[in-house]
Amino acid sequence: MVPYILAIDAGTTSSRAIVFDKDTKKIGLGQFEFSQYFPKNSWVEHDPNEIWASQQKAISSALKAAKINSNEVSAIGITNQRETTIVWDRRSGEPIYNAIVWQDRRTSDYCSSFSEASINQVAKKTGLIVDAYFSASKIRWILQHVEGAQDRAIRGELCFGTVDSWLIHKLTGGSKHITDASNASRTMLYNIHSGTWDKRLCDLFNIPISILPEVVNSSGYLASTDQEVFGAKIPISGIAGDQQSALFGQLCFSSGEAKNTYGTGCFAMTNTGNHIVVSSNKMLSTVAWQLNGIRTYALEGSVYVAGSLIQWLRDGLGFFDHSADVEQLALKEGTSGGITIVPALTGLGAPHWDSYARGAIMGITRGTNTSHIAYASLEAIALSTADVLEAMAKDLGQPLKSIRVDGGASTNDTLMQIQSDLLNCPVIRPLETESTALGAALLAGLGIGIWKSIGELKDLAVIDQKFSPKNGSFASLRNQWNKGIQSTKGWAEPGNYE
Ligand code: ADP
Repeated sequence: MVPYILAIDAGTTSSRAIVFDKDTKKIGLGQFEFSQYFPKNSWVEHDPNEIWASQQKAISSALKAAKINSNEVSAIGITNQRETTIVWDRRSGEPIYNAIVWQDRRTSDYCSSFSEASINQVAKKTGLIVDAYFSASKIRWILQHVEGAQDRAIRGELCFGTVDSWLIHKLTGGSKHITDASNASRTMLYNIHSGTWDKRLCDLFNIPISILPEVVNSSGYLASTDQEVFGAKIPISGIAGDQQSALFGQLCFSSGEAKNTYGTGCFAMTNTGNHIVVSSNKMLSTVAWQLNGIRTYALEGSVYVAGSLIQWLRDGLGFFDHSADVEQLALKEGTSGGITIVPALTGLGAPHWDSYARGAIMGITRGTNTSHIAYASLEAIALSTADVLEAMAKDLGQPLKSIRVDGGASTNDTLMQIQSDLLNCPVIRPLETESTALGAALLAGLGIGIWKSIGELKDLAVIDQKFSPKNGSFASLRNQWNKGIQSTKGWAEPGNYE
């Protein structure tokens, strides 16, 4: 039988499914957007049932496009938006509240109230910085705000899961409550040293440990789909959070290899092998994946707003109809005209970490036009990324040799060239920029023995384009950027989140 692998890519704005063959050729794709709910300022929610329904449609479309039936799928890999928090009733499988999305800042004030000792405890055990981004404070919020939820959780009647867990719960007909180590490491409740849920952290957030899923490897026979639900009993043999999956899909298997994904946000990750590198530069340490019980770690830095800045130019300011048009508009002038955009639309992530920062366009003159704003937006994405990658390089004690890129905005050549210039290192874009889905497919294929080892996967790399740094001085650009960052910090007034 020809091995087909189905990658389920549960993103932030859409549910996707891709069928790959053994040569990692994409032979079928399905994609459906789902609703984004913004009930209050800085709140972002999804309907878990809509995530599932759109995912089912995406799977059907992908199989149809690939001209195969569900029983011809050899393995399923799942990759997902991380940290997004769903709590459901163990018996009925019904969510008790909408999914609270990773972008949601409602628990910012709570997270800022942590003592130094607690912040240190969290960092030491989880590799994370106390922030509203991660699942723990979101779970706590649901348990506190949905009537009776805390008591039901104590009685063991509720399940928490990130989107991978939720989809596996659905795909297995409710029989499995699992997550992989990479997703677990984003909850702020998982001890990345011991590879176990941490009771003391659960107590700190007042979360009963029984609500948490079993943590499994990222590859191997992890679960089977339910015949009734999927139409066949197929192994789910790969699970990883989207960024970790992209690192795997970019074949960054060795320590020091780095990737940056340019999607809604930017997510940079560097493989640190079996070592947990403790950052002195506000990067996160996280689990990249766990194979045969052995964890590989990574350093990570996230920028909350990247491609979504381009969406804002498109939808908020009406500059163009399609995100890809930003490049043409930017190249009309080919310069920012001296303006600086700080894309802190939902606060600042790594390495600045300020929930209260808000966006700004600075240095506007009578000559400033839409092309300058478009160009400065591309610079803003590249500058945000440069801050993160340079902080990471400091932690690693060596400059990055190159970065591999993917994600929707990585198709923008101008952005990639600016990035290479700013970092003064080559930027490598693979032919297959679907690294996230590919990573899940590779984990799944590895899990059932389609590929025997990671070494075998190395041969699959195909490069599309390499951007090399041009000489130039970026001192004044960096200087204005730094001034811009400083002045946007602390802009929003605390107390506006509840
Ligand atoms: P996600 O997985 O986070 O939903 P994608 O990887 O699909 O994101 O990328 C989509 C994002 O990339 C959108 O925010 C969009 O505005 C941006 N984008 C898409 N094409 C381009 C482009 N050519 N230049 C800049 N940004 C782009």
